Amino acid sequence: MQDQARSWAEIDLAALERNLHKIRAALPDHIRYVAVVKADAYGHGLAQTATRLMQCGADMFAVANVTEAAQLREIGSGWPILVLSAVLPQEDDQLFNHALIPTLSNLDEVTRLNTKAAERNKILKVHLKIDTGMGRLGVWHEDVQPMLDALRAAKHLELDGIFTHFSSAPTDPDFTELQRNRFIDTLKVIEEQMDLSNCMIHADNSASLRSFDHSSPINAIRVGLLQFGAAPYPDSLFAQVSTEPVLSFHGRVSLLKSLPEGCPVSYGRLTTLSRPTKLAVLSAGYADGIPMPFTKRAEVLVGGQRCPVLGRVTMDQLIVDVTDLTESPEAGDMATFIGSQGSETISVAEFCRWGDSIPWECFCSISKRVTRVYKTFRE
Ligand SMILES: *Cc1c(COP(=O)(O)O)cnc(C)c1O
Repeated sequence: MQDQARSWAEIDLAALERNLHKIRAALPDHIRYVAVVKADAYGHGLAQTATRLMQCGADMFAVANVTEAAQLREIGSGWPILVLSAVLPQEDDQLFNHALIPTLSNLDEVTRLNTKAAERNKILKVHLKIDTGMGRLGVWHEDVQPMLDALRAAKHLELDGIFTHFSSAPTDPDFTELQRNRFIDTLKVIEEQMDLSNCMIHADNSASLRSFDHSSPINAIRVGLLQFGAAPYPDSLFAQVSTEPVLSFHGRVSLLKSLPEGCPVSYGRLTTLSRPTKLAVLSAGYADGIPMPFTKRAEVLVGGQRCPVLGRVTMDQLIVDVTDLTESPEAGDMATFIGSQGSETISVAEFCRWGDSIPWECFCSISKRVTRVYKTFRE
């Protein structure tokens, strides 16, 4: 199939499995692994990715919304699925249809979902989110008491977990520590009033900065980016865990041509050739997920060598300079945007720097026009 593709992403599921094992090995046994697979598993493909994660040792899944959760439910019936975003009232039915776990942030949600669960004569598991300084979802940590009272009174809701989310884990360890302490203090308040022995308590994501031990009430971690092999932050708990890239991103040389010095290239004539140039028109553009800031700036691998992008990125095509290649490429040759050719590698980190972006966004921006090709076997 990829022989025919104009642009494709190869997803190495064996690498994903190795990454999960490495991350697990860096954590104490009692820490549960919540695999975050929102946004089509960060563009890696929900069904294939989640199936592999189910087979190799995830404990729970987290997705953004009920639609993603319903897709995940189709491939695994018994798995706990946490919905990370606030559920819309219009979506409440789905929680019951697919046995999902919503994130609760306020009293309205408690009342609404308890009523709906009572109407159905069901018990709905929920996770309570505490806002310790993210300023997005969650009840502000100083205002939890009314939530606790409401949850205790909500006979059709079962508190299955409590969590918070760090706003600045990669960049601000002091603030992250402040958030962690606020969370732990809040847990102490909750514990005086409720039995938390069966609760999942989680805060850290891929940028986790702290090692875990039994003295901490935190007993789970939400792992997204790291399992896909994007490099962790230098100070993170996982800096020693060398996860492998799971995804590589490719296109093809679709046309070769030579133009004289002084010719303009692409929309807006942002590049004027400073020498007679051999250029290759590649078969992917911003509609495939090549960031617009690649314009006149990024590099692409062709024939195992780095080729500079000329002019502006266009919707379906990208133009690179292949004048200096040792061997002239041919139409149909592979061009690599993320990944390796021979001894040259473009990492997702480098791709993001050229794209003025972050790995999360770069992965999510690889569009549905890009064929996903799965490598499933251990080598
Ligand atoms: C996306 C997300 C995660 C996963 O974060 P990574 O940095 O990709 O590991 C964890 N928690 C919440 C609430 C999220 O939205």
